[in-house]
Amino acid sequence: MSKEAMRAEAERLMKEAMARKITVKQGDTRIETKCGKCGAPNRVNAKPGESRVEFTCKECGAKQKTL
Ligand SMILES: [Zn+2]
Repeated sequence: MSKEAMRAEAERLMKEAMARKITVKQGDTRIETKCGKCGAPNRVNAKPGESRVEFTCKECGAKQKTL
């Protein structure tokens, strides 16, 4: 994947996440994030108001926190 494509993908995910936040109801929030190691998109469940959540990448298994 080229750098441009990765940037476009990141922007798309961010827009999606923002759109989802507006429509999200009470309860767990689903955060779409990108693995810092391999760049794979990951979906993470977060408690309301929680923005940094620990997750394990589904592709490479790297443990990290969402940005
Ligand atoms: Zn990964």
